[in-house]
Amino acid sequence: MIATSSCCDIEDSNLLTVPQALANIRADIQLLESFEQVPLRSGLGRILAQDIISPINVPAYPNAAMDGYAFHSHDLSTPGWQTLPVIGTALAGQPFNGTVSIGQCVRIMTGAVMPVGTDTVVMQEEVECVGETIRFQTGPVQAGQHVRLAGEDLAIGQVVLKPGKQLLPPELGLLASLGKAEVCVKRRLRVAFFSTGDELCSIGDSLKAGQIYDSNRYTLYGMLTRLGVEVIDLGVVRDHREALRQALLDAADCAEMVITSGGVSVGEADLIKEVLLELGTIHFWKIAMRPGRPLAYGKIKDSVFFGLPGNPVAAMVTFYQLVQPTILTMIGATESELAKLWKAQSLSKLKKRLGRREFQRGVLERTPDGEWAVRSTGPQGSGILRSMSEGNCFIVLPEERGNVEIGEWVDVQPFGEFM
Ligand code: AMP
Ligand code: MG
Repeated sequence: MIATSSCCDIEDSNLLTVPQALANIRADIQLLESFEQVPLRSGLGRILAQDIISPINVPAYPNAAMDGYAFHSHDLSTPGWQTLPVIGTALAGQPFNGTVSIGQCVRIMTGAVMPVGTDTVVMQEEVECVGETIRFQTGPVQAGQHVRLAGEDLAIGQVVLKPGKQLLPPELGLLASLGKAEVCVKRRLRVAFFSTGDELCSIGDSLKAGQIYDSNRYTLYGMLTRLGVEVIDLGVVRDHREALRQALLDAADCAEMVITSGGVSVGEADLIKEVLLELGTIHFWKIAMRPGRPLAYGKIKDSVFFGLPGNPVAAMVTFYQLVQPTILTMIGATESELAKLWKAQSLSKLKKRLGRREFQRGVLERTPDGEWAVRSTGPQGSGILRSMSEGNCFIVLPEERGNVEIGEWVDVQPFGEFM
């Protein structure tokens, strides 16, 4: 249960910090347990739900790492020039079936099985061919060189991947190298979302006086889709009690997470708040962040609920900072490297108020001397969605930080793979 900031403290001036909000959410949510078997390609971007133990050695047999000649390292014991007759050829997929004796060699191509009796490859560039024999200097040749050992990539019985790993291109390749045609992954989290507001017009309709187009459903669609969840878009819902109530119930019925945007601010008609309080356990948090406050979090039936602010940048920032980590935790993903902060020197003067965490939008670039530097995208209003498109990172200014002067170091969070 969440210990702080219940619905009763809507007017409470105690702000919750971003880490406190995240800790409260993490203590409250349940992991998605269900998993499914999918064809390997469909596993791309999904979260692994099983241990992958190698059933074979990769490679399965010792093979040549270079084009050249395979022989036994015993033939290196005489210093100076060595001459060996070539008794056959080994190609990738077409092994040499005989046995190679000391004093003999086989022409071998990269990837071909090392013939019985050989353990070393001399590169073709280092030999002279004289009829059916080769000559080379033994001095520079190391015993065992240019041979890939069986199991040197993956050894039989080795734990190759652990549950929680996101399957990206290298993982698809690793699984394919083990011959796996299917993989067991976490089921996609179902996330239903809708926008609220009488002023919202859907794309395709023409704007009437006082209306704006609904953009939040499209940023949300994009952010959710890139996280690999199953998105259920429930459209725009008017600021009417019954419509909101029905939409929230429908959403909770079909999804493990429900996200709305708009309608939770203090100035807003308290409609959605009243409806939410009737339907579930909802907390209205004022989070010490900018953009981003206020935010509603809680449960409707068994579904996790996020009521994001309506302002387009605030909706995106609260999604990245609070919803995305919640989704990743729920699907059991191991911590992403991408959420880590980098350091950069500020090329802009930044206004920053003490006591809250700000996520200003910046453009991260490299200076001519190879350092990371960041400049502000300009006006930081939470309605300026352009700043998310022009920027490539958040400039993350912690609670205790005041104004930033040009040349001071700041933390930046690049909009990475997940952003
Ligand atoms: P609200 O949180 O409902 O008070 O909305 C705050 C601001 O965000 C208002 O200017 C709204 O018009 C705007 N807004 C709310 N929802 C959306 C949306 N889906 N797309 C674009 N702007 C929105
Ligand atoms: Mg509204």
